Amino acid sequence: MARRLPSINIDEAPAGFTPVCPHCDRELPGVVRQELDEGFGKAYVWMCGNCRKVLGMSHRKGFWMG
Ligand SMILES: [Zn+2]
Repeated sequence: MARRLPSINIDEAPAGFTPVCPHCDRELPGVVRQELDEGFGKAYVWMCGNCRKVLGMSHRKGFWMG
C-alpha cells in the first residue's frame, strides 16, 4: 500500500517581495554562488552578498545520472 505524502502550498513571491538574510538581517538583492570542483557534476555554495555567510548548498549530478 502506497504511503500518502502530505502536500503543502508553494506560492510565487509577489513583486517587490525581497528575501532577507537570516544572518545579517539585511535584504538580499541577490545571492552569491560559488562553484566547487567536485569531479562529476557540480556543487554550489550559496552565500549572502552582504555578510558572505552560507545560505545553503546544492549539488547537481551529470545529466546521465538524473
Ligand atoms: Zn547576510
